[in-house]
Amino acid sequence: MKFQAIAISVIFLLALSSCKDEKPPEIITAPRVEAAISSPTTATRVILLGTGTPNPDPNCSGPAVAVVVNEEAYLVDLGAGVVRRAAAAYLNGIDAMNPERITRAFITHLHSDHTLGYPDFIFTPWVIGRDRPMDVYGPPGTQHMTDKIIEAWRQDINVREEGNQPNRLQGYNVNVHEISPGEIYRDGNVKVSAFAVRHGAWKHAYGYRFDAPDRSVVISGDTSPAESVVDACNGCDVLVHEVYSTAGFNARPVDWQAYHKASHTSSVELAKIASRAKPKLLVLYHQLKWGMTEESILAEVRSGYDGEVVYGRDLDVL
Ligand SMILES: [Zn+2]
Ligand SMILES: [Zn+2]
Repeated sequence: MKFQAIAISVIFLLALSSCKDEKPPEIITAPRVEAAISSPTTATRVILLGTGTPNPDPNCSGPAVAVVVNEEAYLVDLGAGVVRRAAAAYLNGIDAMNPERITRAFITHLHSDHTLGYPDFIFTPWVIGRDRPMDVYGPPGTQHMTDKIIEAWRQDINVREEGNQPNRLQGYNVNVHEISPGEIYRDGNVKVSAFAVRHGAWKHAYGYRFDAPDRSVVISGDTSPAESVVDACNGCDVLVHEVYSTAGFNARPVDWQAYHKASHTSSVELAKIASRAKPKLLVLYHQLKWGMTEESILAEVRSGYDGEVVYGRDLDVL
């Protein structure tokens, strides 16, 4: 029976993976869930909520990172699945990740893989009880996107507000802050700065630096190799940087190679960036694997970089 169940699961998962593009099928394992620090702490932590890309890998939710300072959460990007991954981190013992409590998000750019979870972030916590408005920081266009999302779900809002659902508070409201590079946010826990990065045809694409009393965290956003990342990190504690497999890239069609080169950073290029940025910890994120293994991408980075580096996975706490 057990063998049959395993065999059926493997066949199902192979069928799932065959829906993806040209990647060979691979056996899918459950997401790794790191043991979280369950006691309240003021220490700054980085939680990878989703390490994915547009490829619908069931192990990798859409791109989203939480920086947690003094038990307050600051999200960067809102990829598909963001609220469920936040709930998973909450169940792992991090109170700040209670979806009802999260009210701040910083969007790097408006690509769909980074914003598909935006309606989820607006509505799901509202339905379960959030009664405060959110503050969302992002590039020009964020207000327009927000207005259209609210408009698209207007019938849902009306039914919930005008029907007999107990929760009628306006917890779906968003204060949008369209930002430019520089310091964009400050409170008693953290200072947040945005910096411009180079991401293909996007006019406005940002990375973010978080300065907390005990730690500095830089998140690259989507970018081809950028001096601004080196400058923003400059010896930072944690650099969370996107990456693609160099071996995988070499096997890609020529037109896609041109796109990826202008939009993203290869493992070999990242080694050069990190060697100059000198983070205390480099975290590989938003990994375009193209059928290659985690180990091979790590090896490509390590071939040109001798600092500490880890391959980020969903729900890792760093
Ligand atoms: Zn992306
Ligand atoms: Zn992008």
